[in-house]
Amino acid sequence: MAASLVFRLHDRGPEVVRDVLLERGWEEYDQEEREAEDWNLYWRGSAFHNSEYHNLLPWQRLNHHPKTVGITRKDCLARNLRRMRATFGSALYDFSPTAFILPNDYTRFLSEYNRLRVTRGPAAYWICKPVDLSRGRGIFIFEDIKDLVYDCPVIVQRYISEPLLISGYKFDLRIYACVKSFHPLTVYIHQEGLVRFATEKYDLSFLRNLYAHLTNTSINKFGPFYKAPKERVGQGCKWTMSKFRHFLHSQDINELLLWQGINNIVTLTLLAIAPSVPSCPNCVELFGFDILVDAALKPWLLEVNYSPALTLDCQADIAVKRGLVGDLIDLMNYTLVDGLRERAYRRQGFCLRANRPSHGPTAPVLPKFKETKCQKQRCGGRLPLLKTLRQPEKRNQRQPRRHASVADSQRRLPPVDSTQIRAAKHTHGDTTLNLIFGPCSRTNASVVSRRMYPALAPRLTDSRSLRGSEVTNHGDTETEADAGRPGEAGASSSTRDTPHGALGFRRSKLPNIHSGTHGPVRTTALKGRHVPPLRVGDFIRTFPFNAATLRASLQDLDVKMVLRELHKLTAQMATPGERWRREEEVEEEETDGEVDFDALLWGPKDPPLLSQCFKPT
Ligand code: ADP
Repeated sequence: MAASLVFRLHDRGPEVVRDVLLERGWEEYDQEEREAEDWNLYWRGSAFHNSEYHNLLPWQRLNHHPKTVGITRKDCLARNLRRMRATFGSALYDFSPTAFILPNDYTRFLSEYNRLRVTRGPAAYWICKPVDLSRGRGIFIFEDIKDLVYDCPVIVQRYISEPLLISGYKFDLRIYACVKSFHPLTVYIHQEGLVRFATEKYDLSFLRNLYAHLTNTSINKFGPFYKAPKERVGQGCKWTMSKFRHFLHSQDINELLLWQGINNIVTLTLLAIAPSVPSCPNCVELFGFDILVDAALKPWLLEVNYSPALTLDCQADIAVKRGLVGDLIDLMNYTLVDGLRERAYRRQGFCLRANRPSHGPTAPVLPKFKETKCQKQRCGGRLPLLKTLRQPEKRNQRQPRRHASVADSQRRLPPVDSTQIRAAKHTHGDTTLNLIFGPCSRTNASVVSRRMYPALAPRLTDSRSLRGSEVTNHGDTETEADAGRPGEAGASSSTRDTPHGALGFRRSKLPNIHSGTHGPVRTTALKGRHVPPLRVGDFIRTFPFNAATLRASLQDLDVKMVLRELHKLTAQMATPGERWRREEEVEEEETDGEVDFDALLWGPKDPPLLSQCFKPT
């Protein structure tokens, strides 16, 4: 009997995550009913404790990677981008407005302020933001230093004073980027996103009007014009990204450069912390990148949000966020059946069906099993009575009791033996926190790609390529019998950074999280290297984007090489029609067996393959 997948929400939110998961047949964790380890996904808006990362079991996932504050706090982001600029030059790292962290950088700010006053006259504007506040709180814009007053750590940033306007209204873009893994770096950006408008017309002569200068919904929804129909913008203050694409088309704007610019910003920002984020393959994270586009169509990074809001305030929210969360779940690639958790429990000697306290003629036969020490302690030597059975009155009333008998048996999972837990945990130097059996959704990755991209069909219908794009393990490949097979163990996951043997982790003891009937799937593209799918739902893989960046991310991330590739790509974008790769290079790659690797250009309505963008017209 298969156990349902179980999610845990901290502080009961976000509602949209609950709705999407319940719709998909997941069950919500209830600590009165379930063992402490009996869940698959833990979602919280705030950070997890270190111990929560260290105690993760192989079937459990968290919605945050550890130590990403380096980009999600305004001062850390400014510091990290400054460091990257100093190390790698400003040719690529020119996308964030100059920033000073006060009070520390006050002298430096003062000299820049004075320099600009001399060179530009008084028309240089600054924006002051508290470093650890969000939603526009405490922000103000100033031109004259005498208006700079602060009583907490702030960053003072050059104000982008000539933003692109739509009918006179300022807006910014909320881009949703999912880091599926930091080791190797694997990034997806969602095709949908939000455009957030100020609700009063932009006017530099009135800097104190936050309804004209800030695009935060949390501010504008209290503005006097929020509900009023505004020229072209309409009511409210949000558009979907699709609507923004229509707008770009209607203006005859060459959007490819803009999208690629945003792609670059996401990658370059993540590169600033990727080498220092501990490897935790059980984690996935959705970041909200706030991008302001200026009148010259240059995108600027304003900030990176740690837990982008998932509240559904308006139609645009509903249109974007439900799909976003659904695709995120697909990206995590839970199969319908939680084979790993179930089998780990079974290995304790329990049979789910056998634990059902039924006395009728259909009562399953109790297997002969040996109780572990831990179970004996918990159960006092008797058959394990689970919390569900002991406390039926405490059942979570919110959840409809669908499939009652299935749910009952699922809840009667025995406690996990602590020795098993210990066997499942391991460390990898200082930086690896845990092991996951890595994921890629067969359906979502390749079937969707084939449907959406007829150009790829020949590749995808080739069984080798299909498997290459499916990428990871399906089926019961991680049984004791399979575990030692050369060439197959590595196909199980995105965990090439966690050499299993070296970790002292006995993979054979824990089954694969993806149960099914398929045999082991070997990655075929790139000589057996693991290639994450091009697209999962509306998530487009943006990193790695070619064979070189895949190689650069395989061991320790080679940031220099990635930057070289980004540089090449950007230059190529700027001169369309020019052949990107020299013939010899293509041949080299072909003989290297790596010609199959490609990526889609995130952004346009029907994202083209990157290689198609550069072919001579
Ligand atoms: P918060 O975390 O409080 O939302 P942000 O950095 O996102 O802080 O700033 C809030 C809003 O202020 C942005 O959505 C944008 O409209 C505006 N803003 C922030 N920084 C700048 C800037 N450098 N130039 C122009 N507008 C900015």
